[in-house]
Parts: sequence; structure tokens; C-alpha cells
Amino acid sequence: MNALTLVHLYPREMNIYGDTGNVVVLKRRLEWRHRPVRVVPVSVGDPLPHDVDILLGGGGQDAAQGEIGADFAARGAELRAMADDGVVMLTICGTYQMLGHEFITQDGDHIKGVGVLDVITRGQHERLIGNNYVDTPEAGRLVGYENHSGLTELGPGVVPLGRTQAGRGNNGSDRTEGAVQGNIIGTYMHGSLLPKNPHLADHIIGRAIRRRGGASLSHLDDSAELAAHDWILKRAQRR
Ligand code: GLN
Repeated sequence: MNALTLVHLYPREMNIYGDTGNVVVLKRRLEWRHRPVRVVPVSVGDPLPHDVDILLGGGGQDAAQGEIGADFAARGAELRAMADDGVVMLTICGTYQMLGHEFITQDGDHIKGVGVLDVITRGQHERLIGNNYVDTPEAGRLVGYENHSGLTELGPGVVPLGRTQAGRGNNGSDRTEGAVQGNIIGTYMHGSLLPKNPHLADHIIGRAIRRRGGASLSHLDDSAELAAHDWILKRAQRR
């Protein structure tokens, strides 16, 4: 059984609120099922491997997004080809914004996106901050933490990941959270997200394995993860 390849984009620059935890969770859940997995960190100037199964990107301050902006934009054609080929992607906040068409920061800087997701983001001075929970048609109820200045508008090419319940979500007005387009997920939920949402982790792994023609996943005991999920849910519901 060939190893699944997980790419971790910009692990140094785009890693706030513990987003690297998403990489650790996917790697562990595959290893617990005795499935070989390799994690490939890709930073500025590094080539993307050819056999990517899952691509992960975290959040970052406006300055960090500016730092990696040119390198990220230069990967546009490759990332769009990977998206068309069904590579599974989970992108959090800053990377989610840059997977879209553009992020215009609160200072008016235009950070070019790669147009993989049909979304556009405009920054503003008030930050959208706090615990959140989101009900999603694909992966049930998710809990997480948001902290962003960007307000994201969804285009017709995407559907929301879900409906925000306690937090502000994409833009604080239309109650949507995140975006989904085929095997690509964008969300504002940090935390990190996957340790407290094992059902989403398996949703992502399941899609990658099915893309490789693989079968279903064996069950794992997620009692600890779900206890953490419930704990954060209660905090978010108290907001
Ligand atoms: N810098 C972006 C914003 O403020 C993304 C923030 C983040 O990744 N948490 O909206």
C-alpha cells in the first residue's frame, strides 16, 4: 500500500492558533490504521511533490500572508490543476483567503489569490474573534476558534461549509462559515480544528483514500476527542 502524501504548506509562516495540529491529527489517524503516510513541508521556494493526496494550510497575520504572497501566487496553475484532479485540501483562515481570488487587507494591500476557491476577502479594522460552532451538511457539527479581520464573500462556484451558530463566520452577516468546492475545504476555524473534530478528520482522510480507489476506514475510539469537542461546544454556546 503506497504511502499517502500530506503536504503542509508554509509550516513556519502560516501557523497560528496551533494549525499544525491538523497535520499531526491526520498523520496519527492514518498511522493508527496502519496506513503509511508521509508529511512533506513546503515553504517558500520548495517544489510541490507530484503525488499529493492531501494539502493543508494554516492561518497567518496579514504580514505573513504578504511574505509568502508571491511564492503562493506563483503556484496558482499547479494548485488549480491539483484541485481539478481532486486533491483533498483543508485550508484555514489566511490560506483559505489566499485560495480565493484575492485578499484586500485592512490597509488596502492587495494579496493575489490563486482562484481555486470562488471567494473574495476584504479586511476591515474590527476583528471577528471567539469560539464558534458550525453545523455542516458534510461533516456534522464542528467546533473551533476564529480570529480574522477579513470578511469573505462566497461566489456561485462554492457552497458554504456550514452555518455559523455562535461565531461571526465568513463575514459576520450572512451566517455562512467557510466554503466547499469538490474536495476543497476552506474555513475560519482554528483551534486547531481537527483534534476536536475527529469526524471531519475522517471525512478528509476518507475522501483521499476513495480518490485512490481505497475502501472505508476502520473505527477509532474518539472518546477523548469528543470530550474536548463537547467542552468547547459548551463554551461556544455560552457566548
Ligand atoms: N490575516 C488574515 C485576517 O486577518 C487571516 C488571519 C488568520 O489567519 N487568523 O483576516
